[in-house]
Amino acid sequence: MSEHKIAMVGTPCEIMAASKLQYYTDSPIDVKLGLFCMENFSYKYFENLLKEYDLKMDDIEKFQIDKGFIFLLLKTRETVKIPLSVAKRIIRKNCNICVELTSETSDISIGSIGSDEGWSTLIIRTEKGEEIVKGALEQKFIEAKEFTDSQFSLLNRLAENKLSKNLEEIEKREFLARPVLYQRSKSDDSIAKEISESDFLDLKSNVIDIGACVLCGACEYACPDNLITIDDTKPIMKGECPQDCHACFAVCPRTFIPEDLRNDNSKAIGDFMKVLSVKSLKHSQGQDGSIVTTLLDYLLTNEIVTEALIVDKEDYLAWKPHAKLTSDIDEVIKSGGTKYSVCPVFKPLSNINEEVN
Ligand SMILES: Cc1cc2nc3c(=O)[nH]c(=O)nc-3n(C[C@H](O)[C@H](O)[C@H](O)COP(=O)(O)OP(=O)(O)OC[C@H]3O[C@@H](n4cnc5c(N)ncnc54)[C@H](O)[C@@H]3O)c2cc1C
Ligand code: SF4
Ligand code: SF4
Ligand code: SF4
Repeated sequence: MSEHKIAMVGTPCEIMAASKLQYYTDSPIDVKLGLFCMENFSYKYFENLLKEYDLKMDDIEKFQIDKGFIFLLLKTRETVKIPLSVAKRIIRKNCNICVELTSETSDISIGSIGSDEGWSTLIIRTEKGEEIVKGALEQKFIEAKEFTDSQFSLLNRLAENKLSKNLEEIEKREFLARPVLYQRSKSDDSIAKEISESDFLDLKSNVIDIGACVLCGACEYACPDNLITIDDTKPIMKGECPQDCHACFAVCPRTFIPEDLRNDNSKAIGDFMKVLSVKSLKHSQGQDGSIVTTLLDYLLTNEIVTEALIVDKEDYLAWKPHAKLTSDIDEVIKSGGTKYSVCPVFKPLSNINEEVN
């Protein structure tokens, strides 16, 4: 049993990977704060798109997506907007077959859809999530107000739109290529059998080669022999897998999903206990209501977790996401704000494995 109790932040696909790590391994992840996510972008292609607007990543103070546009708030205080219809071509291929908007397997999901400016929409999904929100309210880290029926309808409608649009894309791709595994409704027994017959080569042909890899890094983290490395575009494996290892295939969020973690697509935002509009009473530097930063502050201050797994920016490349494990609240505050690109979020957990070994 790990002595680390980690709170992680991630997009729905990363939270699914964390849930599978919890399901199949002795994971140090204790609390999952899931973000809403409609789409994500390739860093390299984003840089190229900015060149068409005579801009560099370093010119940008903040990215915001709203009402069909990417708003670039520049350091000069000007705003440039790029229509999403133009930015469509730089969306990562895996995002077009993603059917989850709201991080359905998290303890608490957070986004902006439905809430007023400066406020966040927060979905409580588990008893652990409920306890955390209750504590953060009591200790005045956050304030909350009702999420109205019309706000809920908007959230639900956007989740349904993502679901139906990307189910269509899945159908198109499956007509031409392999099945998208994580959409198969298989019993846990047949999933266990498939896993027992699979290794990295199956992960490569069923996930990586068909453009379904979300680049989360769960396979790299779970490989007991350290055979997998992730370059900027995809996981690669060097060496020979022992016959009885199937870890990478088991934990990948884009292979089969166990019955307990699966949504049969009948509920657009998944199962939940309560939805609220919330705002931080402690921080204001974040993307929306600074709720992720504030909940991590609450969890670390009260020693409910030992560390936070966050996504900061690289020091040497503007807006390039970089995962970090920290117990320092200043680092958590610095990591506020959305980076619209991906990095292998589980990479920092490998150091914990090395500590144990
Ligand atoms: C790729 C992406 C797409 C999103 N799309 C939507 C959307 O369509 N609709 C919507 O309502 N909300 C979306 N969100 C969520 C939204 O942008 C905010 O992150 C969320 O509302 C929390 O705001 P906050 O002020 O509470 O967070 P903050 O207090 O600013 O904290 C943000 C946290 O997010 C983490 N983070 C930043 N970038 C990434 C990343 N690339 N991957 C993983 N973690 C990261 C950081 O570790 C930080 O702790 C998206 C987020 C991402 C990363
Ligand atoms: S696959 Fe893309 S759209 Fe889906 S949750 Fe991950 S980053 Fe977001
Ligand atoms: S050793 Fe196991 S986890 Fe590593 S690549 Fe091979 S099958 Fe995957
Ligand atoms: S192949 Fe690896 S990096 Fe890609 S989605 Fe699966 S676990 Fe994540």
